[in-house]
Amino acid sequence: MRGTKPDHTRGTDRRTVQRPADTASSGVAPQPRPAEVARWLAGRQWPVHPLAPGRKTPAANCEQCRVRSHEPSRCPCHEQGLWCHGFHSATTDLARIDAWWSREPRAGVGVSCGPAHLVVLDIDAHAAQVPDRDRLLPGIPIPEQVNLSGLASGFDTLALLAAYRREPDPAEDETTLRVRTPSGGLHIWYVNSEPTVRYRSSTGSSPRTALAWQVDVRAHGGYIVAPTTRTSAGLYTPLGAVREPAPLPAWLSAELRRTGHVIQTSPVPGPRPARRAPVPRAGAAQALVRSLIETVRECAASAEGTGFTEKLNRAAYTAGGLAGAGHLNQAEARQELAEAAHYARPHQTRRNETIIDAALSAGASRPFHPKGLA
Ligand SMILES: [Zn+2]
Ligand SMILES: [Zn+2]
Repeated sequence: MRGTKPDHTRGTDRRTVQRPADTASSGVAPQPRPAEVARWLAGRQWPVHPLAPGRKTPAANCEQCRVRSHEPSRCPCHEQGLWCHGFHSATTDLARIDAWWSREPRAGVGVSCGPAHLVVLDIDAHAAQVPDRDRLLPGIPIPEQVNLSGLASGFDTLALLAAYRREPDPAEDETTLRVRTPSGGLHIWYVNSEPTVRYRSSTGSSPRTALAWQVDVRAHGGYIVAPTTRTSAGLYTPLGAVREPAPLPAWLSAELRRTGHVIQTSPVPGPRPARRAPVPRAGAAQALVRSLIETVRECAASAEGTGFTEKLNRAAYTAGGLAGAGHLNQAEARQELAEAAHYARPHQTRRNETIIDAALSAGASRPFHPKGLA
């Protein structure tokens, strides 16, 4: 499979020649300014935050938040109107939005999916080593008789999932907002019309927690790049004429449930450690790991070689130790680590996972009972 160029444009090719009606006559797409896009999205009660100009990652944190470790949800900068910690700062406050985009008019727009009740399937078309068939669709064994020789990207795994369920391929769903990404991927936007059910985000490179290989889910704990955002790689271009997300189809909602994407409102406590030491509050263990994970996430705003691997190692090792001692759910921690690593270094997901798994198991073999957390 390596060396074969993925046919990631399959099924969407013919639409590249179609233009939205407002651009067909001039041939040049008059893109709205990011500030207008942000205001429009906020008007729909979709919280927005600025992206780094020319990039798909959030605008950089303030100096202090770059060096200190804290839970983003408790960052004091938000009250002061700063945009630290990406989607954690997202807002629908128009005055704040105006201030942000006057300060950085070139910033692209990110939408915080959870509070907007959005569920976006993010199909990755990057060339990647295709894993074993049991890792393509989590929980669905694909018999050896099924020929997978053409399979190369998330377009193929999502189409396969749809075929298994006898449902239409979401990548071809012309009833909802679909946005082509500069790298040839596709964002399929849906709105969750059942807001009491909250879906978590996941990355398609983590086969144990994904919907399908190379298909990310952007929901709670994630953001999505708004259409018309331009990065150095190109434009996020809406396809066809539909500009509204359709309700999440029932079969996809069932698949998200099946693959463990529903966030439980009352978390199930992990096994209690079989020792007499004071049991730390799970919240404290989580806070410690989250603060370490946040240092990984913040590497998104830094160049290569600025300690990303070390930070990821440290966060995963600590999480492993706490999970080994029963203070954390290891699968959940792994998911959060994978998310943060993917966010910071999206093009090395396999390497990220190798680091995470090695450090998690090294940590788990040395259970960690932090005194300070009791
Ligand atoms: Zn800050
Ligand atoms: Zn902060």
